[in-house]
Amino acid sequence: MSGRPPEPRPEIAALRPYVPGVPSPGEDGSLASNESPYGPSPSVQAALAGAAKRLHRYPDPLAGELRRALSERLGVGADSILVANGSDELIYLLCIAYAAGGSVVCADPPYRLDDIVSRMMGASVTRVPLRDWCHDLEAMADVEADIAFVCNPHNPTGTIVAREAIRSFIAGCRARLIVVDEAYNDFADDPGALTLAGDAAAPANTSLVVLRTFSKIFGMAGARVGYLIGPPDIVNVLRTIRPPFSVGSPAQAAALAALRDRAHAERVRDQIRAGRRRLRDLFVAAGYEVVPSQANFVLVLAPDEAALTARLRDGGVSVRPGATLDVPGTVRISVPSPRGLELLERALGA
Ligand SMILES: *Cc1c(COP(=O)(O)O)cnc(C)c1O
Repeated sequence: MSGRPPEPRPEIAALRPYVPGVPSPGEDGSLASNESPYGPSPSVQAALAGAAKRLHRYPDPLAGELRRALSERLGVGADSILVANGSDELIYLLCIAYAAGGSVVCADPPYRLDDIVSRMMGASVTRVPLRDWCHDLEAMADVEADIAFVCNPHNPTGTIVAREAIRSFIAGCRARLIVVDEAYNDFADDPGALTLAGDAAAPANTSLVVLRTFSKIFGMAGARVGYLIGPPDIVNVLRTIRPPFSVGSPAQAAALAALRDRAHAERVRDQIRAGRRRLRDLFVAAGYEVVPSQANFVLVLAPDEAALTARLRDGGVSVRPGATLDVPGTVRISVPSPRGLELLERALGA
């Protein structure tokens, strides 16, 4: 035995770890991680209490009940759905199965995890700069890759690309697998016109998967539940490599309860959309430019990034500095509750 721990693989030694958002001391001022300020449906509590009685049993590996409920809700076959430990786990599984030692194309700035996990698996990553803060799908289409990641709405910008533009991209791109991450789809003005869930479940589809999550609109980031919609063959590949029990039974029960409370999700959606307008207006009135967002956060163009972040922190509000998201000169701010908005207004004015 030598006196030093072993070195990890070189591509892992070269990684910078993911820097998570820092919560603020007060609940309403935590605006760094795009969490829901409204929390989950109250029915989730009862579901968790019920699940607690069965903690001595392993969970259903495929989350059958949740999968069937999603299948009915989305109108897609259950064999086209895979439930996972957050959509982040799906990004890991997709990179392991399809991009290890290969190549990936994504936007610049990307969703940080797409970039990190691809590199972790030894893939070369081509980052294509955004154009007017939106994915440059034409430029991305020219890049040969095992996986193309398209985040719609995008994180960290909140911008969208039209469904038809993504369809043209899929038809003409040089990537073998297209991953459309719809974590923020529910907050768009017209989610139904934006989603590619139906395309991903269509029998003719061979190259598109869509990612969804319970972390955002359903207010369950702490439970860790996401799902993929895609060709059954791809679902089966991911099934064979996934840790069989990665989604715990409390998380499955909570997600099922959350999914059934449509009214709560609709209320949250309306409140977030209204809050997004107020958040934008607040920063425009303070002299900042704000990137048009269809998500539950906005990207503020802030040449004074560090000073602004510090001023807000002093006012009890934590936001995400753009430097940690590969967009220096900006600040990303989650849509707050009305109380959070008051905090923000006071902190900005001070
Ligand atoms: C928040 C977010 C997710 C959700 O990840 P989970 O692992 O399901 O919590 C996925 N993709 C993007 C782009 C996100 O911003």
